[in-house]
Amino acid sequence: MTAVTRRTALRTAAAGAALAAAPSAAEARGRPAADDDLGLLFDGTRCVGCRACTVKCREANGRAPDVKVVDGVAYDAPLDLGPQTLTVIKRWTEGDREGFVKAQCMHCADPACVSVCMLGALHKEPRGVVGYDVSRCVGCRYCQVACPFNVPRFEWSSATPRITKCELCRHRYAEGKGAACAEACPRDAVRFGRRADLLAEARRRLAAAPEAYYQKIYGERDGGGTGVLVLSAVPFETLGLPLLGKEPVPALGERIQHGIYQGFVAPVALFGALAFVTWRNRGTSHVEEER
Ligand code: SF4
Ligand code: SF4
Ligand code: SF4
Repeated sequence: MTAVTRRTALRTAAAGAALAAAPSAAEARGRPAADDDLGLLFDGTRCVGCRACTVKCREANGRAPDVKVVDGVAYDAPLDLGPQTLTVIKRWTEGDREGFVKAQCMHCADPACVSVCMLGALHKEPRGVVGYDVSRCVGCRYCQVACPFNVPRFEWSSATPRITKCELCRHRYAEGKGAACAEACPRDAVRFGRRADLLAEARRRLAAAPEAYYQKIYGERDGGGTGVLVLSAVPFETLGLPLLGKEPVPALGERIQHGIYQGFVAPVALFGALAFVTWRNRGTSHVEEER
């Protein structure tokens, strides 16, 4: 059992404050990020790659071990996101520098996955969380093609497959708990809270130690804004994060779509175009999966 430390107690209190008055009904996509949206701040300068966050995520979300056998030895150390792995720590290198980045759903303010989900299985929750409703999912997997962060995974081996991705631990909010990964991090490299508070904290860190950071908050405006904000010592391409510009990804897709339908070309062309945008935006990555 995890001991209740002062840090844990403070985090629980902060999560409770952030969660106060959270409404319950889902809302449509396509609005700017709001101050009261919930999210995470990941600070790559603080992460030591211990993976306490990924272990806690698995436990809090009832995910099975993601075991791979190498030379006859079984390891629960996934290299990437998967049906049972909602977040993973990857190692990046740049020359003789190295560090870590946490991969997971970014909870985009205007999510491409929601934009293409024809039955609303993927949807925006009132506090900005991108949730998933399996009862509405037909398994088309358009969301996998549309996501610029390559996040949604499909349970290929299940008889009743579903899409899996981080839902920002929304099942814990009713108990006054926030994101499990943030609760577990011993370095405060992952913080859960209101977007406005996370942005203020990120700006405070950039100002307090400007030499330690690349001077930008990834997700403040990228791709129309994301609920997961990232700080880094190096440019974000080095972490493998796509260069999206300030426009939401669905806006680009919709412009392509409107042009396509004028010519009555099949919708598959739209997803081909989105796939190309995703591929183009990945840039040169120096990220490898942490073992
Ligand atoms: S990161 Fe991908 S899966 Fe998550 S909200 Fe954005 S588009 Fe959807
Ligand atoms: S918010 Fe919850 S589901 Fe998402 S990565 Fe953190 S622990 Fe996992
Ligand atoms: S628990 Fe914190 S320090 Fe450890 S890998 Fe996760 S984010 Fe990094």
